[in-house]
Amino acid sequence: MKRWWRLRTIDNLWSQFVKAKYCPISNMVSKVISPNNSNIWRSLLKIRLQAEQHIKWEINKGKVLFWWDNWPDQGPVAPRVWLERKLGSITVQNFINNNNLNMNSLERVITNDLIQGVMDTEIGERQLPDKSIWTPTTNGNFTCSSAWQIVRQKQDVDLLAKMIWAKGTPFKISFFMWRLLRKKLPLDDRILSLGIQTDSNCNCCREQLPEKVDHVFTTSLFAMRIWNQMATPLGISHQGNSVQGALDCWWRVQPNNQVHKHILLITPCYILWQLWRARCDKRLLFLKDSTK
Ligand SMILES: [Zn+2]
Repeated sequence: MKRWWRLRTIDNLWSQFVKAKYCPISNMVSKVISPNNSNIWRSLLKIRLQAEQHIKWEINKGKVLFWWDNWPDQGPVAPRVWLERKLGSITVQNFINNNNLNMNSLERVITNDLIQGVMDTEIGERQLPDKSIWTPTTNGNFTCSSAWQIVRQKQDVDLLAKMIWAKGTPFKISFFMWRLLRKKLPLDDRILSLGIQTDSNCNCCREQLPEKVDHVFTTSLFAMRIWNQMATPLGISHQGNSVQGALDCWWRVQPNNQVHKHILLITPCYILWQLWRARCDKRLLFLKDSTK
């Protein structure tokens, strides 16, 4: 990741060589990996997407890529336009007029809803080079420790996927877990986040609280009772205030053997699955009663 950062932000002999060799015409942010590329270039492109999410540009001269670089507050422009469009390597300076972004020029390439966000971008001193900011650090400077944190988080996600899709777990449970952890279950909080109003409350307890993922699966009295009933006999204390936290309580226990390992792996998934089924049954009952 450090190499990608240096390639993108430092103008030296090495970065000039790489640009000239691999991207003489196109730009390196959108360059497609080719099977004929060298190992070094391929490994750079593999980390590109992850690294680019954390590189922000402050516009001065305007040499950054209009479509691909992360300079508007809303993120790069290219992913927000039709994929069929041919996007070139034009730079932001093509759209700057008298130290401001030129609305007429922008109107020729992007739609009005995008222009509004782009126009808010501040243009700095034109004689200075554009400034690259590494967003994970407060001072904007790249550090290896911040890069490591990013890579480690990705490993955690990969580990989670490995646990969910483990051999021996029924597909319906794995698929349910995948939906749960990706926030794709149609709970009220998810529906609200899509801009659809709901006036229902949770059906899991008497408090009738807003239906949120953590409430339904871990923090409601009903959920806590189920977790404790299952965890206590195995010497596990349920301290999860979130689904991830509840899973951690089980998955961080050192297993004694393969059977124990499988039990630790699959039991919390089953508990979550049963909590979901109970929720759906209660919601159905509630809907039936309310339509009578
Ligand atoms: Zn409840």
